[in-house]
Amino acid sequence: MCGIVGAVAERNIANILLEGLKRLEYRGYDSAGLTVIRNNELHRERQVGKVQELVNAVAVNPQFFDGHIGIAHTRWATHGEPAQRNAHPHISGKIAVVHNGIVENYSELKEELIAKGYEFTSQTDTEVVAHLINDLYSQDNDLLAAVRAVIPKLHGAFALGIVHVDCPDELIAVRLGSPLVIGVGIGENFIASDQLALLPVTNRFMYLEEGDIAKITRDKVSVYADGVEVSRKINEIDAQQHNADKGEFKHYMLKEIYEQPDAVSRTLEMALESTVSNEQIDDDAKNSYQLKADFLQRHESKLAGIRHIQVIACGTSYHAGMVAKYWFENLTRLPCSVEVASEFRYRNPVVIDHSLVICISQSGETADTLSALRDTQKQAPTGLVSLALCNVPTSSLVRETDIYLPTHAGPEIGVASTKAFTTQLVALMLLVLKIGVIQSRLDN
Ligand code: GLU
Repeated sequence: MCGIVGAVAERNIANILLEGLKRLEYRGYDSAGLTVIRNNELHRERQVGKVQELVNAVAVNPQFFDGHIGIAHTRWATHGEPAQRNAHPHISGKIAVVHNGIVENYSELKEELIAKGYEFTSQTDTEVVAHLINDLYSQDNDLLAAVRAVIPKLHGAFALGIVHVDCPDELIAVRLGSPLVIGVGIGENFIASDQLALLPVTNRFMYLEEGDIAKITRDKVSVYADGVEVSRKINEIDAQQHNADKGEFKHYMLKEIYEQPDAVSRTLEMALESTVSNEQIDDDAKNSYQLKADFLQRHESKLAGIRHIQVIACGTSYHAGMVAKYWFENLTRLPCSVEVASEFRYRNPVVIDHSLVICISQSGETADTLSALRDTQKQAPTGLVSLALCNVPTSSLVRETDIYLPTHAGPEIGVASTKAFTTQLVALMLLVLKIGVIQSRLDN
């Protein structure tokens, strides 16, 4: 799963798209592409390799990309090798589509579309989405209605950005299992898989919910859930705080290593206070701390009933969970299981009654972790409590769990986790202590 950027504006948007893709580069990708509508035509450029290759290719004929609406993508191949023909956007007739995620049933859909006469030029799962929308659009020439009719046919987790030459003022966005935000501007609007991509153009964001479909024009954003128009709050963020800049460091990971002491102390501060007043402080007393009374106070009754801990996470977060298993079992004697989310979600596991399901994710948008969480909620065992241990307060994971335990790491751009991991460990230890105290398994 990699990156999406889209824009509809009065000004030319090609540079906004390219700059947005550059800001998503930290996520890793194999190719990049964009499509802009200009003079009733889709102009597309795609390149394997760095976004800079795409920037160079666009610069050969920049006039083709002077347009007011467009979509762009960085791809991390799941279906088909990294190659120009597999890079997004994918086009069917007058429609262009960018896609993050996976369409699991794409091969059946592909057969049906081939039988109808559609020709495939890529090996991707995404191309079926473009052809399906094209097929349904021709029925009543309504792009939103066509997209709405296609979504139930697709199985998987995905985010989509769609444009059509016949609707040059209209950008359609879909969010189902992969992150997508709408950036709200003045007389211009944007989409992106991560708000970081849009910080140069806006600091106002609308977070789509699972299953939302949005129709975005220059001056209006209409969001639909189950076919009904719904309102989604606009959140204003402190762009300064979110603006991740390398500063004096050679690369982000180095900067983030040096940010660890601050991140760890911010995370500790949410839960700990000194047991002595400032005047009393002497060298011994300085090291004496206790849990703050208000730390997770609202959730004490829920946590009191927990008899088992289930950690679900991926990658580095999974490793933080494995460390926490030793702490939970050593210090509180509560049994703790830890499982990689991608295994958990595909194997129909038993969720024990009175489990605390701890989902750990830096971004709070890890598709496998979200899906595993939803599976535990569907099973609805007695006394289930879910907790998001996460670095992004506005994320899906936080919205979908009972308890939010923040790590105060700030944006982590480096792909190899540093400060996010260390703050996860700190927050997990604080949680172990809190549960131990609530259940009288430990002294405060
Ligand atoms: N499954 C799509 C492909 O392989 C999208 C991959 C992505 O999220 O970048 O092209």
